[in-house]
Amino acid sequence: MKSYISLWPAHAAQLPFPRSLAILGSTGSIGVSALDVVAQHPDLFRVAALAGGRNARRLAEQAAIFRPGVLAVLDETVARELKGLLPAGYTPEILIGPGAYETVAALPGVDLVLSAIVGAAGFLPTLAAAKAGKYIALANKESLVLGGRLIRNACRESGAIILPVDSEHNALFQALCGHNGDEDLARLILTASGGPFRGKDASFLAKVTPAQALNHPNWSMGAKISIDSATLMNKGLEVIEACHLYGLPVSRVDVLVHPQSIVHSLVEYVDGSQLAHLGVPDMRIPIAHSLCYPRRVALNMPRLNLASASDLTFEAPDETLFPCLGLAKAAFAASHSHPVALNAANEVAVELFLQGRIQFLDIPRLIEAALTRHAALPQDCGAAELINADSDTRRETLAAAN
Ligand code: NDP
Repeated sequence: MKSYISLWPAHAAQLPFPRSLAILGSTGSIGVSALDVVAQHPDLFRVAALAGGRNARRLAEQAAIFRPGVLAVLDETVARELKGLLPAGYTPEILIGPGAYETVAALPGVDLVLSAIVGAAGFLPTLAAAKAGKYIALANKESLVLGGRLIRNACRESGAIILPVDSEHNALFQALCGHNGDEDLARLILTASGGPFRGKDASFLAKVTPAQALNHPNWSMGAKISIDSATLMNKGLEVIEACHLYGLPVSRVDVLVHPQSIVHSLVEYVDGSQLAHLGVPDMRIPIAHSLCYPRRVALNMPRLNLASASDLTFEAPDETLFPCLGLAKAAFAASHSHPVALNAANEVAVELFLQGRIQFLDIPRLIEAALTRHAALPQDCGAAELINADSDTRRETLAAAN
């Protein structure tokens, strides 16, 4: 696999300031952190568009402060509520429906798109930004899991550049700066906190509740990624994301459990050197790095003090107790469309678990069954076929759970 997206073109990134920014998923955990970065550096950005899903109140509050010309929401009801909440005299264009996010991603006046919708819903907007040649600060890992090949091709054709927001991939990007080429690189090592259930046994996992699973020890995140962290599926999705971003086979991307979440990932070079990125676990650091790259900006937040940090410990992941990591690696190795089935089954299973309709250990079972059922799509299939496979898997996984 050839490196394709971010690294070398991103190293050359020279987008001038102020940058015209669109945020997809502004009302979520990443979106809120990004707007905090923007508020700390108002001279560096012009917020051109904000897109939320259903949270009209939060979107209205954000819009009242940043005054973008375009807003987007999921449906008419949310749009009506939003209109009623906007300050008098401020009349942005309000786009409505799933297609609105693709429109926002490709707006002519926008240079930089933060892709931070959760789940497969982020795929088509990210692809639209890639086709439109934007700088893409990418938090939505699911879009690369679903359609990494299509996004790669679109970036190549349009000149779009991906800057990784996910803390591990951003750490890798930073640790890869200055290397001479693919032949220098031995492997990538993604760190994982291990989630709230590290060290527990199967009988404990069989009974865990959504509230326990949502209680991540180090990071404050949206619900879906918090459950993914508890199952280790988040790390599985990240292995696939890293393979796509940095053009490596899955055999050269390793996972290391590091419960303190201080070392955010490492790059190992052929001479045995390992370069790590360290920092407090706060997404504003990788968000600011990707939104401002190659410039670095000061952030008003706690700093890492290694003298008072607890011990930094590392261990191998338990892939028997947490099979989602292995399922993700197997899906990526199986075919380019097996990750679509993996991701769709996972999204359905996570939702069912959050609703209390299945147990925690049913999540990997449903995913494994979906992977077994999935028949690989042709290598050259387009976005519509991938979306169909996503919908089919969702329907079948729901049926299998009932
Ligand atoms: P949240 O659940 O906090 O936020 C999700 C955002 O997506 C909200 O703005 C939500 O709108 C919007 N949204 C949800 N469904 C849809 C839809 N169908 N169409 C359009 N918009 C929708 O998620 P996070 O911020 O935690 O995560 C966002 C992405 O970033 C994920 O892909 C995640 O894996 C990735 N990421 C997150 C990290 C984190 O620390 N949170 C770290 C690294 C990566 P609304 O709330 O208004 O309904």
